[in-house]
Amino acid sequence: MEDEHVEQPEEQREAQIEECLAYFRQAIASPESVPPWSDWWRENEPLVERVFPLMEYVRLKHRKLLGARQILQRFEELPKDYRPTSPRLTGSCGHCGERVPPSAIGPEGEPVTCPHCGTVFADSEEPGGSAPG
Ligand SMILES: [Zn+2]
Repeated sequence: MEDEHVEQPEEQREAQIEECLAYFRQAIASPESVPPWSDWWRENEPLVERVFPLMEYVRLKHRKLLGARQILQRFEELPKDYRPTSPRLTGSCGHCGERVPPSAIGPEGEPVTCPHCGTVFADSEEPGGSAPG
């Protein structure tokens, strides 16, 4: 039998996972209301490493907000075909979770490329894109 040096009641672990999930949900739904991924990760990486299975920790470490989204999708909190909102609207990248400065956002109708991870967001899925006014 192996002796675990860290003993943690299961309920506490679940509460800590829930705290992380709360951040993931916020970072996906309204990224402007929470710190960017890198800030959150810097503070919470040891926690994530402790409470998540190794596979999920590695996923989050490498895929960042995308990994968080995949975890929520696995919990069926997000639809499988969920697509992040364009940084034009949120000011944040739905892939890496970093802020996208206005200088990186081109004219209306142009795709937005995240300067941090290089993900390209098509501006809108709606055909025609009729703008009121
Ligand atoms: Zn990005």
